[in-house]
Amino acid sequence: METRELFWGLGSAGVTAFYVLGFSAIAVFLWGLGRHIAKYRRAAPPAIAIAIGAGLHRMLVDVLSHRMLRRRDSFAGHAHAGIFFGFVLLAIGTATITLDYDIVAPLFGVSFWKGGFYLWFSLILDLAGLGLIAGVVLMMVRRAAFGLAKLDYLRAYRGETALRPAARAWRVEDWLFMAALLLIAVTGFLQEAAGLLVDRPAWAAWSPVGLGVARLLAVFGMDQAGAAELRAANWWFHGLAALAFVAAIPLYKAKHMIAVLGSLAARDPLALRRLPKVPDGRAAAGISSVAEFSWKDMVNFDACTKCGRCHEACPAQSVGYPLSPRDLILDLRLHNDRSQGRPGADERLIGDVIAPETLWACRSCGACQEICPVGIEHPAIIVQMRRHLVEQGELDPLLQATLGAVADTGNSFGENFRKRGSWARALEFRVKDLRREAADLLWFVGDYASFDPRNQKVSQTVARLLRAAGVDFGLLYDGERTAGNDIRRVGEEGLFESLVEHNLGQMRAAAFASIVTTDPHSYNTIKNEYPEYGETKPIRHYSSLLAELLQAGRLKVVKPLDRRVTLHDPCHLGRLNGGYEAPRAVLEAIGCEVVEMPRNRGNSFCCGAGGGRIWMPDRPGVEKPSENRMHEAAALAIDVFVTCCPKDLTMFEDARKTSGHEKDFVVGDIAELVAEAIELKSLDLKDLPPLAERITDAVANRIAEVVATRLDRLLATRLAAAPPPVAASSTDAVPVLRVAPAPAWTPAPVTAADLPAYEVPAKAGPRILVAVKHAAVLGDDYAFTEDGRDVQPGDLGYVLNEWDDAALEEALLTVERIGAGEVVAVTVGPEQAEESLRKVLAKGAHRAVRVWHDSLVGADPVTVARALAGVARQEQPDLIFAGVQSSDSAHGATGTALARILGLPHAAVAVKLEWDGAATLAVTRELEGGVRHRFGLASPAVVTIQTGINKPRYATMRMVKQAKAKPIVVLDGAAVGRECAGYVVRRALAPPKGRAQMIQGSGAEVAAAIAKIIREKRGA
Ligand code: SF4
Ligand code: SF4
Repeated sequence: METRELFWGLGSAGVTAFYVLGFSAIAVFLWGLGRHIAKYRRAAPPAIAIAIGAGLHRMLVDVLSHRMLRRRDSFAGHAHAGIFFGFVLLAIGTATITLDYDIVAPLFGVSFWKGGFYLWFSLILDLAGLGLIAGVVLMMVRRAAFGLAKLDYLRAYRGETALRPAARAWRVEDWLFMAALLLIAVTGFLQEAAGLLVDRPAWAAWSPVGLGVARLLAVFGMDQAGAAELRAANWWFHGLAALAFVAAIPLYKAKHMIAVLGSLAARDPLALRRLPKVPDGRAAAGISSVAEFSWKDMVNFDACTKCGRCHEACPAQSVGYPLSPRDLILDLRLHNDRSQGRPGADERLIGDVIAPETLWACRSCGACQEICPVGIEHPAIIVQMRRHLVEQGELDPLLQATLGAVADTGNSFGENFRKRGSWARALEFRVKDLRREAADLLWFVGDYASFDPRNQKVSQTVARLLRAAGVDFGLLYDGERTAGNDIRRVGEEGLFESLVEHNLGQMRAAAFASIVTTDPHSYNTIKNEYPEYGETKPIRHYSSLLAELLQAGRLKVVKPLDRRVTLHDPCHLGRLNGGYEAPRAVLEAIGCEVVEMPRNRGNSFCCGAGGGRIWMPDRPGVEKPSENRMHEAAALAIDVFVTCCPKDLTMFEDARKTSGHEKDFVVGDIAELVAEAIELKSLDLKDLPPLAERITDAVANRIAEVVATRLDRLLATRLAAAPPPVAASSTDAVPVLRVAPAPAWTPAPVTAADLPAYEVPAKAGPRILVAVKHAAVLGDDYAFTEDGRDVQPGDLGYVLNEWDDAALEEALLTVERIGAGEVVAVTVGPEQAEESLRKVLAKGAHRAVRVWHDSLVGADPVTVARALAGVARQEQPDLIFAGVQSSDSAHGATGTALARILGLPHAAVAVKLEWDGAATLAVTRELEGGVRHRFGLASPAVVTIQTGINKPRYATMRMVKQAKAKPIVVLDGAAVGRECAGYVVRRALAPPKGRAQMIQGSGAEVAAAIAKIIREKRGA
C-alpha cells in the first residue's frame, strides 16, 4: 500500500520524546502569541469601526492573489509567492498527517494517508517544497546581490553610514528566517530521498523532487545502509528544526505571518482619505505614549516585513528629509515590544523614539500606505503623534502662525475673510452668491485658488469655462472657509472640526444640487471626511466636469493643441481617490500628446506641499520633492507640465525655476489648456451690459473723487486768497467777545476707573495680570464707520496680537517656573474681544476679565490704562505685563500710563525677565541699536514685553473650546469715562498702496540711498 512510516525506526521512547518536544514547541508558540495578544488587549480600540466581513474578504483576496506583493517589484512578489504557497501547502500537509495519525486513526482505527490520496499528497508537497526553496533562494540572492537601498536599514537621510544595533539585529533575523525555511525544506527532501533509497517503493515517481535528490545521493555513492543512517539522523534534525521554527514564530520576523492577516483584515478601506477622530473621552487629542495607540496600530507595527517599499516610495525620504515610513514603523515596533503596550518607562515616544522632525517631514501623500503590501496605515499613525506636538506647541513658528491665521480668518493666507471672493470681481460677469440665490452647482474654491494671485487667474479661467459651457454655478464667497484637509493632517483636529462645522452650516443654508472643486485637498475632505459630521452633497473634481463638458460638446475644441504634455497626478485626487482618468481624458480631448512620467498614477511623486508642509520652510540645501519631480518631467522633452491642483501649480511654478528647467517647459493648469483649445474669449457679447455697468460705476466713482479733490483744493486756494474781513463800520454792531480768564493750571491726576466690584479669589502664590489689547484684523477691503472713527465692525476680527501673546507667554512661563500662582488676563473690548480671551485661557491663563462700554470705542491708551488700573486695583497683582504695542488704539503708551496711574515702577521693552516670586525682579531691556540694560525692579511693577523674548505656545481649537469652562468676568466700563482721554480717534485713513519701498543693503548703503532720495526730492 502506498504510504510511508511516520516515526521510522523510532522506539516508543523516541516517539514520546518527540511528542514532549512537540507540545513544548506549541507551548512556547502560544506563550509568544499570548504576549502579543495581551499587548493588543491593553491597547485602545481603533477609532474607526472595522467591518470584519469585508475586511476578511479583502484580506483573502490580497493574500491569495499576491497582487500587493507583485506591484512595482514582481521579482519579490513571485519569490514570495513561492515561499508563501510552498509553506502553506507544507503546513497543511503536516496538519493532515497529524489529523490522520493522531486523531482519525486512534479514534476510528482507519487511516486515509495512503493509496491514491498519499500519492497525490506526496506529489503536491514535493512541488510545494520546491516552490518554497526556489522562493527563499531568490530572496537570498536579491538581498545579497542586488544591493537594494530599501533593504539596507541604513538611515542615509540622517547621515548614518553604519548600522545601528537594532538594525544589525533586523538583518540577522531576516537571514535567520530565510535560512530556517531553507533548512527545513532541504532536510525534508533529504528525509524523503533517504526513505526512497531505503524503501525503493514502486511509486517513487510521485515524489519527483525526493527521487531526484535520492538519485543525486546515489551518484555521490550513498548506498541503502548509508541512506538508512541518514534517515535516522536527519529525522531528528528535520523534526527539531521544524519544531524550533514553530516555537519561534511569535518572537522574530516570522510573526508577520500571523500579524499580516490581522493587519490586512482590519484595514480601513478609506485610510488616509479619512483620518481617525479623537476617541471619545480622551482628554488629549494626540498620542504621546505607545500605550495610546489602538490594537490595530500595534498589529500594524507587528505586521511590517521590512520590505522597504514604503521607504522607497516616500518623497520625504527620497530627498533627504529625516523620515522613512519603514523605519518609523520599526522604531515603534521595537519600542512597543520593549514596553509591551505600556507607557515606556525610560523613553519618551516623541523625542526619544520618534523625533519631532521625523513627524513634521511627512507630506501625507499616502505613497507609503498605498504600496505597503501588509496594509499599514503610516499617515494616520503619524498624524496622531502630530496632534500631540500641536497640543504641546512644538511646531514650526511659520506653521503656528498659519494655524493662528486660519483660526482667526478662516484662510491660510491670513487675509480678511471678506476677500475670499475678490478674484471673481475681475470677471466680466457676476458669479452667483449661493447664500442668496440658487444654482445647480456649488463651486468650493479653496484657499489657494481664492487668494494666490497665479491661481486666481486659473479660477477666473475656470469660471469663464463654466459660463461658456452654460453651467449654472455659484460660490459661497466669504461664507467659505478653508476646507481643513491639511489642517487635519497637520494635527489640529479641533480647528479642523470647527472649519467643517462652519462650512457645513454655510452649505446647509445654500441651495444647490452638487459641488465641484478645483482643489483636490478640499475634494478629499469634503467627500470622505465631512459626511462624518453632517450631510453633504455629491462632490466632483473640476477635471471630471471639464471632461464631461468636452465630451458633451458644451465646450467645443476649436484649435486642437498639438502639445507634448505630461500630467502630474495630485496625491489627493489620484492616489487617494482614484481620479486618474478624467484629467487624461481632458488632455486627449483637446489634442495633447500625453506622455507619462515614470512615477505616475498610484506611484505619483508628491509635490511636497501636502500634510501642511506648504506652510513650513524647507531645509536649506536639501532638494525639494517638487524639484526632484521637475528633473523627471524634463527627461520627457515635454512642452507643458500639466497640473490640476492649485498647490501643485504653486509648487511646480517655483520648482521649475529653482531646478534649472525654466527654459525646458512651462507649467500650466489643465483649465488653461482647455481655454486655449476652445479659444475661450474672456468677453462674451452677453457679458457686455453688466461689464459696461461695472465700468461706468468705476469711472463715475473716479470722476467724483477727482472732481471732489480739485474742488476742495480750489476752495482752499480761493479762501486763502480772499481779502481779510473788513472791520465793521459801527462798533456797536459787533458784539464784544468776552474771553473767560484762563483757569489755573491744576490738572487732575488720572486715576484708576471705579469699576463694579467682583469676587477675586484669594491669592495662592504670585498673581500676574496680563493686558490683552484687542487688535483688529484687517484685509485690503474694509470700510469706516460714518463718523470715520473706526472700521466697520463687520470688517474687524479680534486676535491675540503678537506683543500681548509674548507678554502672556512670559507670564505663563514665570508662573510655571515658580511652580505656583496664577495668570489673569484683562481686556478692554466688546464681546467679540472674548475670542482673544478664550485663546489666552486655552493657553493656560487661569481667569479673565473683560471691561466694556460703548463709550470706550476708539478710547486712547490712557483711557484703556485707566480701565486696566480699575481691574488691577481689585486684583492686586504682583506683576502686570503688557505687550510693547498692538495695532489698535491702545498702543505702546498703555503700559506707561498704567504704571503712572497705579504709581508702580515700570520697565519697557523687556527682552528677558528673571523672577522667583520674591520682591525683586531682574529685567533686561533692549533699546534701539541693540543696547541692553539689566536692572532690578521692585514688585509690584508694570513690565511691557518685547516680542522675541519667548516663543508663544499654541492653543489648539480643542483647547480653545475646552477653555469655555474657564471664567470670564465682564465688567461695565461706563465709569471709565473719557474725561482723562488725551484724544479720541476722529478719522482713520488707509495708507496709499504701493508707495513704500524697502531699501536693501548695509547701514552705509541704506544711508547713501536715503541721502540720494532726499537730494532727488530737493531737486539737487
Ligand atoms: S505619507 Fe508620504 S511623506 Fe508621509 S511617510 Fe508616507 S510616503 Fe512619506
Ligand atoms: S511598512 Fe509596509 S511597505 Fe514599509 S517596510 Fe513594512 S511592510 Fe514594507
